[in-house]
Amino acid sequence: DSFDAMGLQENLLRGIYAYGFERPSAIQQRGIVPFCKGLDVIQQAQSGTGKTATFCSGILQQLDYGLVQCQALVLAPTRELAQQIEKVMRALGDFLGVKVHACVGGTSVREDQRILQAGVHTVVGTPGRVFDMLRRQSLVSDRIKMFVLDEADEMLSRGFKDQIYDIFQLLPGKIQVGVFSATMPPEALEITRKFMNKPVRILV
Ligand code: AMP
Repeated sequence: DSFDAMGLQENLLRGIYAYGFERPSAIQQRGIVPFCKGLDVIQQAQSGTGKTATFCSGILQQLDYGLVQCQALVLAPTRELAQQIEKVMRALGDFLGVKVHACVGGTSVREDQRILQAGVHTVVGTPGRVFDMLRRQSLVSDRIKMFVLDEADEMLSRGFKDQIYDIFQLLPGKIQVGVFSATMPPEALEITRKFMNKPVRILV
């Protein structure tokens, strides 16, 4: 059980160790490798289990850093969580030169547009602002190949269902999907059925 055995890029491993992680948590042990293979993954896990680093590592491993266009989109239920994920992504991807931006409500739309137009590899955000950026074509979706829903149950209970479906409609057809959720209410199961292709299920 080590990060070294996962086949990760050297510069991603450096980021993980520099961040202070020594050994993978249970969810990281089981989730990082399937995500890195491009598989759709459902991970039923509480926060505090290390889920953030699971999908951040999976995304960072698969980005094409020579292409400065958005290739991964992560949705989270709150501004604070989206900004927290942005920080983890930036720290773990420090040696890879990842460009990440958080698109959340309550911040300047102009500033979001400016940063997106300057170029990013990955976007983390809340559904409302992300949809707004897609609709304005400030966030260009045609190279997005990974889509992660973090705290999917929480997003649904906050009434983001329609916006999540609207966003999904604007993404390319063939896309890797990761769903992270502490619980699996019927609406979350519906999302996994509609968005995912033969998902791997991991329960921790
Ligand atoms: P999360 O479930 O992603 O919110 O992570 C919960 C907490 O565990 C955060 O403070 C992480 O920094 C920490 N954490 C996650 N993975 C590891 C790890 N492999 N080793 C040590 N701490 C970790």
